Amino acid sequence: MEKHHKFSVWYVLLGVWAVLILHNLLFSMFAIETIAYSEFLDLVRKGKIAEVAITQNQIQGKTASAQDSEGTLFRTVRVDPEISELLAKNNITFKGEIESTFFRDLLSWVVPIFLFVGLWFFIMRRMMGQQPGFMSLGKNKAKIYVQEDLDVTFDDVAGVDESKHEMMEVIEFLKNPQKFTRIGGMIPRGILLVGPPGTGKTMLAKAAAGESGVPFFSLSGSEFVEMFVGLGAARVRDLFNQAKQKAPCIIFIDELDALGKARGFGNMGGHDEREQTLNQLLVEMDGFDPQIGVILMAATNRPEILDPALLRPGRFDRQILVDRPDKKGREAILKVHLKKIQYDGSVDVEKVAAMTPGMVGADLANLVNEAALLAVRRDKEKATMAEFEEAVERLVAGLEKKNRLINPREKKIVAHHEMGHALVSFFLPGTDPVQKITIIPRGIAALGYTMQVPTEDRFLMKKTELLNRIATLLGGRAAEAIVFEDISTGAHNDLSKATDIARSMVREYGMSEKVGQVYFSPKNPSPFLNMPGMGGATEYSESTAEIIDAEIREILAAQYKTAFDILSSKKSLLEKCAGILLEKETLDGQELRKIIEAS
Ligand code: ADP
Ligand code: ZN
Repeated sequence: MEKHHKFSVWYVLLGVWAVLILHNLLFSMFAIETIAYSEFLDLVRKGKIAEVAITQNQIQGKTASAQDSEGTLFRTVRVDPEISELLAKNNITFKGEIESTFFRDLLSWVVPIFLFVGLWFFIMRRMMGQQPGFMSLGKNKAKIYVQEDLDVTFDDVAGVDESKHEMMEVIEFLKNPQKFTRIGGMIPRGILLVGPPGTGKTMLAKAAAGESGVPFFSLSGSEFVEMFVGLGAARVRDLFNQAKQKAPCIIFIDELDALGKARGFGNMGGHDEREQTLNQLLVEMDGFDPQIGVILMAATNRPEILDPALLRPGRFDRQILVDRPDKKGREAILKVHLKKIQYDGSVDVEKVAAMTPGMVGADLANLVNEAALLAVRRDKEKATMAEFEEAVERLVAGLEKKNRLINPREKKIVAHHEMGHALVSFFLPGTDPVQKITIIPRGIAALGYTMQVPTEDRFLMKKTELLNRIATLLGGRAAEAIVFEDISTGAHNDLSKATDIARSMVREYGMSEKVGQVYFSPKNPSPFLNMPGMGGATEYSESTAEIIDAEIREILAAQYKTAFDILSSKKSLLEKCAGILLEKETLDGQELRKIIEAS
């Protein structure tokens, strides 16, 4: 927009200037001498005028030719005869003058044109939401978005080793697509990088391009949407066309959720433009030949709101988690960024990493920068530990306000809670082994989590297994009750899952003796179907409902007691493990096993 805007103004200015020049030129070309009216009258009296032409205001003419010269052209402006008579009588030189209306005329049409043009641009701008010019309607300016010869490498992205590892295959492919397809390897097409903001998703995608030496096209999901209807789709088409010409290459779409929100999600009637753009994206994804080596990557921190169509096989069917770094990861990230500043030996990187739980790569980059700035402000040659400590304090205060970090007391509770889940699961036979326990906050809901992976895929679950699972879920709260003699709200997600299992046991699996071998359909399919006289009313009587409720409660209470008993008999182990978790933030199953076996 900016560019075209200036152009038009220049055109108008150029026009005005040309008219002025022409005007002057015309007059100077026919160099007509302007003489005073009194002089003209004088010449008339002396008989020196050969011919005149009279208009309303002016008299033009030619003086009579003398022997040595031709007559000259002249011009004079008429003056009111009465006044001229009076003036002539008194021998005063006088001349008439025509007010120049040139500029006034010019203004009278130039100003409105300027206003009009200005207004037009203003409106256009508004309508297009600052987007590039209407001249290039739909013509993707992908040239701006393509970056070649990126010098970002995997060494610049630290603390996300697992994600990097998963990316390796993509790089292999991009380096030599032909070789890959010849062997018949599964060709990756769409990769979704999932993780909180600032964890390095964009960097990872760039590093993949840098490492494999291919061009990198990037665009943000929100950029697609703020445009005229139809433009977003055109842009997608163009982006893919350009990318295909540069293949092998990587297309990176940041904030995919802005574009790929589930259709009809959150806004009634839908957003036509977004939907069209999304459809176009799906068409393009399905349409291109994976053999040519265009890899599509996208980043989001809200995969759950994405349109399921985007996640189907052949589209973004591979997901790579880019999680918040643990202490070791933070240390690695700090080291990457420390290379860019001057610091002295007092800076203990491990200690700084320990002080920054919950921070992501972007926060840590910020932290190092802040410490360097503090050192400059203090006229120091190099940043010292003191600057780092102060920078941490400042940053933590800011992040805590935004609710992105948890305070030490909460962290302690979370560590015991998670360890509660892990230990109950460890000591109950027939539960899935614990794979990973972490107290690094992730997502919005969970403050920490304990990941259990089933040893085998299963379709059948025994009653004891279900009961153990409930006990494990309730272990978090039991641990809090034992260690802190108080409970927190942190367990509400656990409670809801445990209750769901218990309810299914009673109502669907016939696992309650009092209720018996019956199946009640899970929930009313539609809230409207449950209205009186509309059929589909409750399948059971009030008294059955009471028994069901009592049974569910009974199961939950018994399993809570199981968890509570296990944990209170192992209170010291619980506290020890929680202490270690607090320090390391993440423990995997093997580490936990070792700690338990050692004590
Ligand atoms: P995201 O795309 O996940 O929101 P970015 O990749 O844009 O995050 O990261 C923003 C900045 O934070 C980067 O430019 C980099 O300086 C820093 N950063 C983030 N993650 C890392 C990391 N894992 N290692 C090093 N620096 C990182
Ligand atoms: Zn829990």
